[in-house]
This record gives sequence, structure tokens and C-alpha cells, in this order.
Amino acid sequence: MDLNFIEKNINVVNLINSIPGGLCIYSLKDLYPYMKVSVWNTYMTKITGYTIEEINEKGFYSIFSIKEEGIKFITNCIEKRSIDGNTKRHQYEIITKDGVEKIISVNSSIISTEDSKENIVILVKDITKYIILEQELREIEQRLNKIIDTSPDAVFIHDNGQVIEANNMALKIFEFDKPEDIIGHSMNKFIHPDFCDIVKDRIKITQEKEISVPLIEEKCITAKGNIIDVEVSSTHIPYKGKKCNFVFIRNITERKSMEKTLRKGEKKFRKLFNNVNDAIYLNKVDENGMPTVFTEANNVACNRLGYSREELNSMIIPDINPFINLKEISGFMTIIKKKGNLIYEATSKTKNGQMIPVEINSILMTLNDEKYILSISRDITERKENEKALKESEKNYRRLIESLPYGVYILNKDKVSFSNKVGLDYLDVPSLEDVKNKKYTELLQPHEDYKEVFKRNIEQLYADGHTPLIEEKVIRLKDGKVLDFETIITRLPYEDDGDKFLIVIRDISDRKKAELLEMEMSKKSKLLDEAVEYETLRTEFFANISHELRTPVNVILSTLQLLNLNMNNINTYLISEDKYKKHLSIMKQNCYRLIRLINNLIDVTKIDSGYFHLNLTNSNIVNVVEDITLSIAEYIENKGISIVFDTEVEERVLACDPDKIERIILNLISNAVKFTEPGGNIFVNIINKKNSIVITVTDTGIGIPNDKQKMIFERFIQVDKSLTRNREGSGIGLSLVKSLVDMHKGTITIESEPNKGSKFLIELPVYLVNETEKSVNDINYRIQENVEKINIEFSDIYF
Ligand code: ADP
Repeated sequence: MDLNFIEKNINVVNLINSIPGGLCIYSLKDLYPYMKVSVWNTYMTKITGYTIEEINEKGFYSIFSIKEEGIKFITNCIEKRSIDGNTKRHQYEIITKDGVEKIISVNSSIISTEDSKENIVILVKDITKYIILEQELREIEQRLNKIIDTSPDAVFIHDNGQVIEANNMALKIFEFDKPEDIIGHSMNKFIHPDFCDIVKDRIKITQEKEISVPLIEEKCITAKGNIIDVEVSSTHIPYKGKKCNFVFIRNITERKSMEKTLRKGEKKFRKLFNNVNDAIYLNKVDENGMPTVFTEANNVACNRLGYSREELNSMIIPDINPFINLKEISGFMTIIKKKGNLIYEATSKTKNGQMIPVEINSILMTLNDEKYILSISRDITERKENEKALKESEKNYRRLIESLPYGVYILNKDKVSFSNKVGLDYLDVPSLEDVKNKKYTELLQPHEDYKEVFKRNIEQLYADGHTPLIEEKVIRLKDGKVLDFETIITRLPYEDDGDKFLIVIRDISDRKKAELLEMEMSKKSKLLDEAVEYETLRTEFFANISHELRTPVNVILSTLQLLNLNMNNINTYLISEDKYKKHLSIMKQNCYRLIRLINNLIDVTKIDSGYFHLNLTNSNIVNVVEDITLSIAEYIENKGISIVFDTEVEERVLACDPDKIERIILNLISNAVKFTEPGGNIFVNIINKKNSIVITVTDTGIGIPNDKQKMIFERFIQVDKSLTRNREGSGIGLSLVKSLVDMHKGTITIESEPNKGSKFLIELPVYLVNETEKSVNDINYRIQENVEKINIEFSDIYF
């Protein structure tokens, strides 16, 4: 540089001051560290606030914020002189005169003047602003990096598709192991083929026009080949001196699948919404808490009302429910708010004016922070009709129950809950209130005789759910009156607890009285019939008996007359001795007939009046029967009839009256002979049983018809009068036999078949009595006696 030129042509001071930087020169000869500044241009004053005088006074080093730093600077300058002898740029912090901290850049060099004096030239620049700016920029960059790194989105910086930067989330979303896997690679290979063209266009637009492109949804492929749904926005940005693109990618795969599920759910809900049987409405609730127009209505609602959805969108609840006004709706809303929902009945009016009864369930709900009333409306036309029919039928039933001539009660467990009028009359109370909730046991009690029946009835009720119709006597506790009831109890069906009973009662006291009367009447009329019958029998008997009495007496009388005649006219009519004997025998037999008849009559009378007694002795029954049978064998065989006696045992001792047994046997055998033609057979058998003896008398005679078999033991009965006329008899014999068997505690039965024969069976119980002297049988006497007995018992048989 030609300084002479500068000295000659340019004012040096002006030159120094016009430099856009600080210039300061000081000489090294000055005593360290108090060197004097020789040049201090105005820029230096501007930077530091100090004039040359002020700085020389203070010392140059003192403007450094750290004094030591200033001293070091100076020292450096001195030392550097020998080291590099030239320039060295440094940054220092200084404090201006005003106390402001500034950063200056210092460029120092040593120059020698002509007199070889060494001077330090210092060029100073205030770089405070740049430094702050740089720092701010660095902070911004740091912040940006942090944001990018912590961003929940993947962030790529690419230059025309070539990736320069990628944050952690980018690595994660695109499944890269390390940044090198993506940085330096083309973005295209991660774009789904369907979106490649769109993406290219977007890159082109952002790069050329340097603008942002709007957010779009696209699909990408990760490093591992998975397809992901992403949301991408991109903007142009200069980065490290290049025109780059910032791409923000958000993984929305999950959201997409959720949306899909939601869409599916909504579709399902829609389907349900439109396919339920009930009408569904949605009304938005305004700030006053009142429902506004219908915002939604399902198909059922539209079909039922005949309005389209659009039409409903401008209608409010009273438009379709004409009987509900706004005031009522406001009341409903208060309840719904309190309870969450409200079920009520209303009437819906269709577009063509038809009224439909409905049951509405209104629910308060919140959708997207808005309040709605959801109303589910069910058509209850059928139910209403049923209810009406039910009411009608209930009315009819009530009428029926009230008009029934029965007492009808309903018991709730054991307490009266209902009674009809007749029922109240039975209890002798004027109104239901008098008996309601009273236990039935406080009102009625079963009569002593019916307590068992009552108990059984209740048991059956619980077992089967109902009782049969029973008659019972109950006591009305109110007045102790005994009532005859006909009762039936049924457990009421359809009751939850199953402990309700329906009792239907009929007072049959009158019927019972009538029945009693009727019974007495029939008893009396039976007695009357019996008396009449008895009377007829008696008349018949007396007619018969007179005949029976007259016949032997006539025979005796006529025989006597004959004998008498003979005696008076001994010469004229002489009877032979044989004839004489025969006449005597006829008279004797007829006397026996009379005796037999009289005996039987006396015995019957004795039995009837209770004066007939048995003379019981322990006798061998086999002997008694055998003896009497054998003693008449001859008589019978003379009649051309065979008689056979047979016994299973030889001895069986039992308590009996041998005389009466003989009469029984003789009677039966005489009947057998009477009704058996010559050539027939009679069997007398004794059958031995464990506790009894059975004596049978069997014949092969005419037999007795079945219908007559029972009667023959009755007194005065003769089976066939026309027949018996030929065979004499009074009809007393068998009745006497039966009485005698009865007195022996035995039984008599008959087996017989007409024209084949009859079999009489007598069963006598085997027991003993205390022995008396009478029990010793005098056999001889008995034989004598037997002859008489046989004569008497066989007196009506003509040999
Ligand atoms: P009666 O003294 O008239 O014989 P019974 O009481 O002995 O009276 O008998 C009643 C009736 O029973 C007889 O009249 C007869 O009709 C019938 N009867 C009794 N025994 C026999 C018999 N062995 N075979 C057929 N009929 C008989």
C-alpha cells in the first residue's frame, strides 16, 4: 500500500473513522500492561462507549468482561508477535461504558513503523447480534429436532424423494431397525403401488410451487412388508441449503380398523333400529330441557304413522301424540331427568287420522354432548282390546258369581279375600268388610263328626290342587249354628305363590232335613211293607195252620166215629183186628202231627219271646248225628229211599244241645224224605274242620230254585204251595232249624239245583262249656226219646 498517497491525498483521521469497524492501535513500547492507545476510531467509541482519552485512562484490557482475559489478550498479542507475527481472530466479551455486555471479534496484528517501533493494530467488530441470532437459531434447530424426534408422527425430510432425515417414529412405523435403512433411500419403495402416482404429483407440486399439500389418507408398505393406513401431510422447506420436503405421516391403521368396526356396528344398529317391532324416535332436547323436532325415526315409526323421515324432521311430539300437550311433556321431562326413563301410555295419531294406542318408554341420553330423548313406542292395540275383553269377561264373571245360588269365597292363604252375597249370607254378615282378611277358621269350624273328613280334604287340596265335592257339617262360630254344606275347593291357577283357593259352598241343610225325613219315611214304609207282608204271611199261615190242625183232627175224629159206630153196632159191622190196629195207628200218627205242629208253634213263640234256651253240654257231635240218622234209617228205607251216613272223624266233642241237634237233623232228613221220590238217596256226612264241624244232609230230590233258596229259612215260607199241598207242612220247620243253628253260633247254608237235589250245610263252631251233671247222657233214655221224636218229626210223612 502506498501510504504516501494516503498521507498526501486522504485525511487519515477521516479514513480511520469511516472504516465500518473498530480500529485501535497501540505501541508495544509502552509499559505492559499500561500501553497507551494511539489510534481509537469512532467505531471503537461506538462499540465501547469510551473515548480514546477515557480508554487510555482506564486501560484497554479493562473493557474485557473478565480482566484476566484482557490481560491475556494483550500478552497474547505480545507473544504472538513472535509466533505468527500476523493476524489472529478472536472473540471476546466486553462490558461497555454503559455496562452492556457485548461480544466483539478481534483481529490483531503487529505492524512496524518507519522508526521500527512495533505497534499492535487491532480490528474490532461488534458481533453481539450475530452471536445472539446464531444462538437463537441453534436453539430453534434443537427445539425442532426435539419436536421431530418426539413427534407421534413419522417425520421424513426428503429431497425429491430421497430421504435425508427420519425421526424415531418414522423408524418405528415403517419398521426399520436403524436410521441407515431409510436415510439415503428413496421414499417411493415404501409407498403402496395404488398411491405412487398421487405421491409423485404431490412431491412435484411441493417442490416446484414451494407450497404445502393437504392432508390425505394413503397406504404404505413397511420394511417388513406390512401394509399400513397412514395420514400424510407434506410441506416444502429449505433444509441445509436444499429445497426439501417435510413429510408428516401418521399411522391410522388402528383408527381405520376401528372405523370399520364402528361402521359395521352402526350398520348393525341401523338394521336393528329399522327392524325392531317397535317404533323408535329420537328428539333433540333444547336448552330449556324440552324435546324438539324428531331427528331420527325408524322404518316402523314411518310405516306406522304414514309420515316420511323428512316430514317427521319438522314435527314435534304433540303432532303425533295429540292428547299430550307441552305442559305434560314438560312434566314427563322432569320425571325422565330424575329417573332416567319413563314408561307411559299414549295415543299416536297417524297421517290419515287413525288413532293407535301405544306404550312409550322414553329414555334420556347424551350423544356427542347433545341431549336427546329416545322414545320406543309399542303398538298396544291388541293388548288394549284384550284388556277390554278381559274387563268385560271379568264383569260377566262377577255378575255370574253374584247371581250363583252358591257361596263363593276366595282365600288368600287362609284369609278371606272375597265372598259373594250368598257367601256372606252363609256367614250371616252384611258386607265383605266384615270378613275380609279374617281367617276362615275364625268364621267356620268343622263339626266334631267331620273333623277327620275336613283334615283329609285339606291334605288332598294341597296334594292335587282340588278337593272332591264333599258334604260336611260346619259350625258357624258367630252364633254356633250347625250348617250342612256341600263344598268343593280348588287351588286358583295362574297365581304366583299358588296359595289362593276358590271355595264353592252350597248350603244343603234343607236337603239334609228332607233326606232325613225321606229316610225315616222309607224306613217306616219298609216297616209298613214288612208288617203288611208279615200280616199276609200270618194270614196264610193261619189258613195253613188251620188246615194243618183240621186235617189230623178230622182224621182222628172220623176214625173215632168209625170205631164208635163199630162199637155200637157190633153185630152189623164188624171190623177185623188188623183194621182196628190200622185205625189206631192212623189216629196215633195224626196225634203226632198235631203234637209236632203244636211243638213247633210253641218253640217258635218261645224263640220269638226269648224264652227258648239251649241246654249246652260237651257232647260228641258225631255220635249225636250218627245215632239219630241210624234210628230213622229203617223208616226211610221202607219208603224206598236209601240213607247213608259217613263221617271224617269218629269223635269231635263240642258244646251243643243234643236234643236240638237231633231236631235239626230230623227236620232236615224229614224234608229230604218229603221231597225225594222213592229210589232216591239221602246222605248225611260229617266234615271235620280245624275250628268247626260241618254236617251236611244231601238228597237227590226235587231241589229248590235259586231265587227261593234264601227265603226258605224265613218263617211260614213254602216254596211251592201247590206242590207242598201234597207234602204236608207248615213252613215253620226250616225257620226253626235256622234259629236253633243260630243259637249254637253256627251257620246254615244251602246248595241246590232243581230236579237234581239239595244239600243243607250246617257249620258249628267247636268250643267247650263247663261240664255239668246233665252232660252225662243216658243213652237208653235217649233211644226211647228218639223213637218219640222220630214219630213226631216224621208224622207228616205217610208210610
Ligand atoms: P214245612 O214244614 O212246610 O216242610 P219247612 O220250613 O221245613 O216247612 O220247609 C219250607 C219249604 O222248603 C218246604 O215247603 C219246601 O218247599 C222246601 N224244602 C225244604 N226242604 C227241602 C228239600 N230237601 N227238597 C226240596 N224242597 C225243600
